[in-house]
Formats: sequence, C-alpha cells, structure tokens
Amino acid sequence: MTHLIEAAADQLTLDPENWNELRQLGHRMLDDIFNHLETLRDQPAWQPLPEQVRQAIREPLPIAPQGEKGAYQDFLHNILPYTTGNRHPRAWGWVRGNGTPFAMLAEMLAAGINTHAGGGQQAATFVEEQVIAWFTQIMGMPESSGGILTSGGTMANLLGLAVARHAKAGFDVRNEGLQGARQPLIVYCSTETHMWARKSVEFLGFGQNSLRQIPVDEDFRINLTALQQQIQVDRAAGFHPIALIANAGTVNTGAVDDLVALGEICREKNLWFHVDGAFGALLKLSAKYEHLVAGIERADSLAFDLHKWMYLPFEVGCLLVRDADMHKATFAAQASYLETTSRGMLADGLSFADRGIELSRGFKALKVWMSLKAYGAAMHGQLIEQNMEQAAHLASLIYAHPELELMTPRSMNIVCFRYHPLDFWNQEELDQVNREIVLRLQESGQFVVSGTVLHGSYVIRIANTNHRSRMEDFDALVAAVIWHGCEIIVEAVASARGCCEVE
Ligand SMILES: *Cc1c(COP(=O)(O)O)cnc(C)c1O
Repeated sequence: MTHLIEAAADQLTLDPENWNELRQLGHRMLDDIFNHLETLRDQPAWQPLPEQVRQAIREPLPIAPQGEKGAYQDFLHNILPYTTGNRHPRAWGWVRGNGTPFAMLAEMLAAGINTHAGGGQQAATFVEEQVIAWFTQIMGMPESSGGILTSGGTMANLLGLAVARHAKAGFDVRNEGLQGARQPLIVYCSTETHMWARKSVEFLGFGQNSLRQIPVDEDFRINLTALQQQIQVDRAAGFHPIALIANAGTVNTGAVDDLVALGEICREKNLWFHVDGAFGALLKLSAKYEHLVAGIERADSLAFDLHKWMYLPFEVGCLLVRDADMHKATFAAQASYLETTSRGMLADGLSFADRGIELSRGFKALKVWMSLKAYGAAMHGQLIEQNMEQAAHLASLIYAHPELELMTPRSMNIVCFRYHPLDFWNQEELDQVNREIVLRLQESGQFVVSGTVLHGSYVIRIANTNHRSRMEDFDALVAAVIWHGCEIIVEAVASARGCCEVE
C-alpha cells in the first residue's frame, strides 16, 4: 500500500501538493478582491503603468517555478492597480460594464468545473438554453427562436450577419462561397453603425464596398427615405440586397433607429432584419423605457451584450435568431470524432457548436443564470432606470450651465457635451480644449470618460452602464469639467503672455 502511494507521488500533476496551503491562498485572494471591490470609491479610477511595472511584466519565460504565492504577489503589485478602471463608480468611458462581485464568484465556479460548453448531455447545455429562452421572452421574440451566448457584441453581430447571408443569398453559400454569387450582395446600415459591421462584411467576404452606410437624421437615426432610395438604386443596378442592420442604441449617442418602420421595409423588400442592440436592447427589462426600442421583437436576428448593461463581467454577449433552424443550418457540421448518438454524452449532438464557429467554449451562461436568479430581472430593470435617470440629470445640469453645450438628444444613457465658454473660439480650439479635458479627467484618476466626434465636433462622451454610480457623481463630473476647462484657459493665457514677453 505505501509502495503504491509512493509511486503516485512520482507522477506529475498541477493539483497542489498541499491542498490546505492553496485553499488558504484562495481564501486570501477572495478577501483581497472583495476588499478591493468594497473600497473602489477610495481608489483612483485609472492610473498609468509606471515604467518599472512594464519592465516587471516583460520578464523572461519562467522556466523554474515561482510558486503560486509568487505569481499572486505579482498580480497584486503589477496588475490589480493598473486596469482601465471600468469597475469604478465614476467610470463612463466607451461602453463598459462594471462586473459584479457575485458574477465573479460564478465565473470562479465555472472555471472550477471547467466544463466544455459546446453542448452534450450536461446541465450547462440546459442552463444556456434556459438563459436564451429567458432573453427570448425579455426581448418579446417568439418562443421558437434560438440563440447562442458569445464572447461579446461583435461576435454576436457577426454570427447574425452570417445567418442572414445563408438565408438570403439565394444560392448555396456554404458550398460555393461568394464565388457562387451572380450579383453582388448588398448590406445596409447607417453611418452611425458600430465598426463591427465593417469588420464583418470584410470577414464574411462581402467586402466593404457592399456595405451601404446610409446617412442619419439630426438625431442620428437612419434616414428612411435615403435607405429606400438606395435599395431601389441597387436593385436597378443589378445588385442583390440581402440584409439591413438596424441600431437599437448607437455607440456614439445611443440613437435608436425606427425599428418598426425598418422591420416593415425589410418585410416588403425581402431583407434580413438584423438589430444591433449591444446595450440598448436591455431597455426591454424596463417597463418604463422599453418603448424606446419598440419593434425590436421583429428582428430576424438580434445581438446584444450582457457585459454592458447587464453589468456582468467580461465576456458575454448574446445572439437571438427568430428562425432557429436557419441558425443551425448556417453552422452545423459533422465530423467522425463528434458523431451524434442517440444515447450517451453526445445524445442530441453539440448544440452550441452547431450555432457558431467555436467548438470549445467556456460556461458563460452560468454567471448570467446565477445573476438573474440571485437578483431577478426586475432589479436589472430598475438599475437600467437608475442609469437613465442619472444620465437625464447630467443632461439637465449641462443644459442649464452657460459654459457647457449639450450635443445629444436627452433620451438615453449616453450624454455627449462640450465645454464652450467663449463664443469667439473656433472649432479647432474647441476640439483641442475638450480633448485635453478628457485626458485630464482620466489622468486625474477621478473619472473615466471618453470622447467622440459628432457632426464634425469633438465632444466629451459619457455612457452610463454603471451600477455603482450615484447621482452626486454626475454633479462632481460637471464641476471637474468646468475646473479643468478653466485651468486650461488660464494656462493658455499664461503661456501666450510668456511668449509675448520673450518676444
Ligand atoms: C460595444 C458595442 C458593440 C461591440 O460589442 P463588443 O462586446 O465590444 O464586441 C457593437 N455595437 C454597439 C452599438 C456597441 O455599443
């Protein structure tokens, strides 16, 4: 017996030699990260990586072990303090959710069981199907719809467009590829559509020239007349329009295209109706605001992120497809080593491998499922309402302030504005000052905001998908923008004087 145990000790494994030691380290990690999350407000939202930290990360390949504790120490010193800060209560840059402590635990459990979530006879398969069924219900799509969880919005949108191509090309794209196209295939979107669309038409072989970016109206929604005219022009020129990408919340301003009208146009013109609802689709969780995305339930395919306005940790997005069979027909593939059987572990096949291009996948559904169960859909709806009200509060502060200019309609969780105190400033000066304000807000470690360009003007941009923000944080933001703006003017005046004196 002792002989056998000794023999086993000779074999290598990555399990710990001493489980109690690793258990203690694990408990310490949990304590540290909970302490960190509990005190986020007292920490800088962002700080640049010092050169010595970069150097420390660039170490040579560790051949010899540094030990679990050593690796963890490096995490504490070199990684934890230097992130992009989206966890922070005053982070509203780009569109990035905070994550939640409970979903972090769910992620840990998912990694612990380390299941291959491609499908098969296991609870994970049924959990992901259930999550998809819940979102089908939330979005108001037919119960027979199908879907898949993805790494994010880009992947969900790409897969949706691939289904559109399969459904509407009019020839066998899977066998012939685009070589089989007798007419160029055309896809429509607006000039405000996220860059995933350009990447996807390139990746799917349509090419950028086949993406018609239709102009928007003054509220950044697709111009319906221009769209219909373009479809006519394309048909007359012998092109084959196959799909329209509608926006339910554009990344720049949160604009929602007229989904009801677009659904109708797609039905009439036999186009696939794809909706990019990356964050906006989640408004369906709020009885108060769901009218803003009315018509979204008509989508043939609908993509949205759960790591934005569901606040879940990266990564997780979702694609829903009205015609579940079409979805499967786009991707399903056979292989001898993945033979579907009527019994055993692969009974019913690998259902998720059949709905996308990935085979091995992590159990993303667990954090979604556990969060919805723990907090309920209603709570998520209330958080979204809170974010909407905070954004409206910020917009009214800006609107009322003589030195600030509101640059977006006041209807979404995205607010764009600029500092504009002096009428005689030209466009270039305004852009320069506002760019500098964004950088100083970030570098001060107090706020994470981003910028964008609207109608040719640089603007400060706030996207509120933050469950940690409080109303006061937005008052503080306005004060800080004014403060940095004044500071920049004072510096500019001083340096102009300095330069005159030298002359
Ligand atoms: C964020 C975003 C995307 C891309 O989603 P990822 O999860 O970052 O890949 C697409 N569309 C819109 C409108 C977005 O806001």
